[in-house]
Amino acid sequence: MSESRYIPCIGLEVHVQLKTESKMFCSCAVSFGEEPNALTCPTCLGLPGALPVLNAGAIERTILTGQLLGCETPPVVKWDRKNYFYPDMPKNYQISQFDLPLCLGGGVPLYELAYPKDHQKSIENPGKEVELTRIHLEEDVAKSTHHSNYTTIDFNRAGTPLMEIVSEPDIDSAEEAVAYLNSLRQILVYSGVSDADMEKGQMRCDVNISVRPSDEKELGTKIELKNLNSVSAVRRSIQYEIGRQIEELEAGRPLTQATWRWNDEIGQTELMRTKEDAHDYRYFPDPDLLPVKTGEMLARVQQDLPELPHEKVARFENEFGITHYDASVLAAEQLLANYYETAAAGAKSAKKVANWVINNLLAELNERDLEIGECPVEAAKIGALVDLVESGQISNNQAKEVFSDLFENPDQSPADIAKAKGFEPADSGEVEGFIDEAIAANPGPAGEVAEGNDKAANFLTGQVMKLSRGKANPKQVTELILKKLRG
Ligand code: ZN
Ligand code: MN
Repeated sequence: MSESRYIPCIGLEVHVQLKTESKMFCSCAVSFGEEPNALTCPTCLGLPGALPVLNAGAIERTILTGQLLGCETPPVVKWDRKNYFYPDMPKNYQISQFDLPLCLGGGVPLYELAYPKDHQKSIENPGKEVELTRIHLEEDVAKSTHHSNYTTIDFNRAGTPLMEIVSEPDIDSAEEAVAYLNSLRQILVYSGVSDADMEKGQMRCDVNISVRPSDEKELGTKIELKNLNSVSAVRRSIQYEIGRQIEELEAGRPLTQATWRWNDEIGQTELMRTKEDAHDYRYFPDPDLLPVKTGEMLARVQQDLPELPHEKVARFENEFGITHYDASVLAAEQLLANYYETAAAGAKSAKKVANWVINNLLAELNERDLEIGECPVEAAKIGALVDLVESGQISNNQAKEVFSDLFENPDQSPADIAKAKGFEPADSGEVEGFIDEAIAANPGPAGEVAEGNDKAANFLTGQVMKLSRGKANPKQVTELILKKLRG
């Protein structure tokens, strides 16, 4: 049976560690790679009688996220206890938000470049926005490490502010789920809310997934996949699970609501627990924490909203006259976007600078395994280098040589490197001579140029470049040839 007879319905719950100095309910530092249990106090250890104090910075970052994603923030929010026992949470409840979360509604726009590379040419719903249910704020638990016959526990992570972003079951495919995560991550990193690095566990994802026959309205039985920790695991597990669920239904075996886990090594999902042993969390308002009025903070956040990736793309297109695709590549990462803006500022051709950054700089960084933030060459020097080409000081090929040198000697200026290499424009009298020589030696092509053939002009330019040993500026040469032969 074909899979198109079934419609998948996917919702994601994403936990994001906020980038704050201190923890959610105490003043312990948030930091990675410290000695285990070095960053703890009675509150984040969950000792009896220790009281929580709210972290205003975490609340503000969550409100900011909501504003960037078009959510509503209720005038009053509150904190609730989510009760369950687990060794990584010794007070036996997690402080979370139940019925009055910080953000409601909103959506995540799916950027084209956020889809998997192999899928960007076949996006089903360009411009789609995935609807959100809510965003709430809670605390992270400690981290257990299981050894051969014992377990150790590190409370450094316990009490780290966690933002939980819950989507509607509005995602139709594994590829849309990937785009959702990448787009979300881009916005979180852009706004400085989180580093959202899945590999570091700063962003963790649970997937709810069901399929239903295309002629049925009601959603199918929901399966939850827990704790996916990479974008590729999210994609592969969803693809696998859609196939598995359709196979079960086709074989006449109804599904039961349950929690499954993804086994990345064998590439299959495995049953974790069924609904019978699901938790009843018995939420109730935390008596240690007062509700919070959000109005003042909301007003402050609204005054100073950062530019979102898609807004930056539009601005780059307008301001610099570059294509939508180039603008999207440059705006995909904030640091790259900043680099380009600095390079293009005051340059003769912002468009050429964009080409240079995308085609040459990114390739060079990739080859050297460097991030844009580690680029040894200052942005302004790329602008200056492209200007040398634009003003006819050096040729494009010479600029490439200067560019490689610049990586080795980033303190030097492109103009100095060009000079040291003897890349000076051939003097104009000399170039005129070469042009006359080329025309005399190639009367056929010269005649064609006069009749309007541009290819023949390129041919003659090539001849002049040879005669000048690459010193002449090809753009100027072509112009001079056309002037001579067409008047
Ligand atoms: Zn603490
Ligand atoms: Mn949660």
